[in-house]
Amino acid sequence: MYLKTLYIQGFKSFAQKTKIEFNHKITGIVGPNGSGKSNISDAIMWVLGETSVKTLRGTKMEDVIFSGTDKKRPLGFAEVTIVFDNSDRTLPLEYNEVSVTRRMYRSLESEFLINSVKCRLKDIKELFMDTGIGKDGYSLIGQGKVESILSNRPEQRRAVFEEAAGISKYKMRKLESENK
Ligand code: ATP
Ligand code: MG
Repeated sequence: MYLKTLYIQGFKSFAQKTKIEFNHKITGIVGPNGSGKSNISDAIMWVLGETSVKTLRGTKMEDVIFSGTDKKRPLGFAEVTIVFDNSDRTLPLEYNEVSVTRRMYRSLESEFLINSVKCRLKDIKELFMDTGIGKDGYSLIGQGKVESILSNRPEQRRAVFEEAAGISKYKMRKLESENK
């Protein structure tokens, strides 16, 4: 499985609908300071369900919606779609491509979709659990995360290995059934 395409519209500095294509090797994103490179990784975290405003480098969730420039009016909603190549069936869905979309309005109402079908944030979390891809997965290593993996408390480090070993899902289900 690999990240194939990202569509960003109205998210942070991306006012117009922007398509970013990745390939299955290495894609580098370069540009001057402030040109929106980090906004791309923010968009990936956001569409995968990030709810921490701090992680998204804002002060309130509304900050992710394009706030306008001298020439462009602010927009009313942000939308990001991430498309994975799933021909190896890493994700348990019978589709060669799996897309996840998040849309959020200024009312802060968020919508999530898997392959264009509305779903809950919980469904997205479950879909990516044990793949390392979720917003807490190890496939997104932000500045400073390397250090936290190395120096965090042993239980936190263990969670990274549990995700890699593919047992997070079972732990979560066990916890859910214990709480019922
Ligand atoms: P650096 O090389 O310094 O890390 P960068 O390419 O990673 O820069 P980003 O942090 O991705 O840059 O982008 C910052 C830009 O995004 C700023 O110009 C900021 O004004 C703009 N920006 C952030 N949020 C919004 C928003 N809601 N609406 C419009 N522009 C925004
Ligand atoms: Mg940056």
